[in-house]
Amino acid sequence: MITFDGVTKRYPGGTIAVDSLDLIVPTGTTMVLVGPSGCGKTTTLRMVNRMVEPTEGRVLLDGKDVRDGKASALRRGIGYVIQQAGLFPHRTIEDNIATVPLLMAGWGRGKARARARARARELMELTGLDASLARRYPHQLSGGQQQRVGVARALAADPPVLLMDEPFSAVDPIVRASLQDELIRLQATLHKTVVLVTHDIEEAIKVGDLVALFRPHGVIAQVDTPEHLLSAPVDSYVENFLGFDRGIRRLSFLAASGLALDDRPIVGDDSPAAAALGVAAQAEDEWLLVVDGERRPRGWVTVNALTALLPGSHAGDAELVPYGHTVGVATDSLRAALDATVLSPAGRAVGVDAEGRVVGVTSYERLRAAISAAGEAISAAGEALAAQAGDVPVAEEAVPD
Ligand code: ADP
Repeated sequence: MITFDGVTKRYPGGTIAVDSLDLIVPTGTTMVLVGPSGCGKTTTLRMVNRMVEPTEGRVLLDGKDVRDGKASALRRGIGYVIQQAGLFPHRTIEDNIATVPLLMAGWGRGKARARARARARELMELTGLDASLARRYPHQLSGGQQQRVGVARALAADPPVLLMDEPFSAVDPIVRASLQDELIRLQATLHKTVVLVTHDIEEAIKVGDLVALFRPHGVIAQVDTPEHLLSAPVDSYVENFLGFDRGIRRLSFLAASGLALDDRPIVGDDSPAAAALGVAAQAEDEWLLVVDGERRPRGWVTVNALTALLPGSHAGDAELVPYGHTVGVATDSLRAALDATVLSPAGRAVGVDAEGRVVGVTSYERLRAAISAAGEAISAAGEALAAQAGDVPVAEEAVPD
């Protein structure tokens, strides 16, 4: 784990970039440092691998001051990824990735070199790079591919710690989103201790296990889990930084599995119209979901449309209204459930199991109940993890007198 213990950095000229920072990055977590430009994020990051030395205080790696021992030895255990990848233009992709292993082998020939390149190929696969790119040069790759090479290179020596400084800022939003997904996927298996700097709060919330939000001049405003940050900002600075729709964004962290779906307003497409009208009356609903013989959704039907059917018709004969996007009850969030509900002409969304079979339908009342129940559970879990990040301000519940 990484510990910042009373760390201050004053640059020549008097700028206080970081001011008395106390922060713990627990082993195996992704800590995102986020805040406005110039608030001291990069300075904080660079004090871990000694590219910047603190003026006061200590940075500890697993309890040892990073200034004990040689900087070069320290850096072998710390991968470093920067914006625009910083690749060597005249080296092939595989040699760029194998930089550290090759360095450690003294740019050796024969076996050491072959081993380093074999490792590079493994890392290309791990970071989603096609093997055909191995012999190309950086300028022959897209920005997103170059950034993946940067990540692969940082992982080459299998360091326990990864420092990432605005790693995805230079690529377009679609590529950025896929690189963020890739980092989340990698972390699920690699469990590195990652410190990532960004100015983008959405990125912080998406990739961070913990988020440290800085005020100007290197002071932390709040360290918290993303969901807890969204639900309980400590003050108006944090609230403004998070943006206006934090209530909705927070729902991404709440599982749709907590939603009690209604299985009443559902009829088979082979159900006689009169029977379907009976179901609607019983469910006290104007809309029914029509499903096929496998219980997969076909569409919504209104009571009026059922009434207008000729005698002897079935529910599936009526004009059906598209049901929009379904909600995977085991995999989706309450945000997806709310979105599907808002978009649905019936004001209800369709919840399905892993096979796409209908489990039940949503309603605003059911969403509201699930949101308040899940919100309370997540607050407690968020506090426990945030407490690990050190003796830093976390949101306090209002205590009645
Ligand atoms: P951020 O990463 O949040 O944008 P930085 O850590 O890069 O912030 O910078 C924090 C403050 O320190 C800024 O005011 C910046 O101008 C100043 N600063 C950064 N590097 C140096 C340096 N090498 N010399 C003097 N001032 C610096």
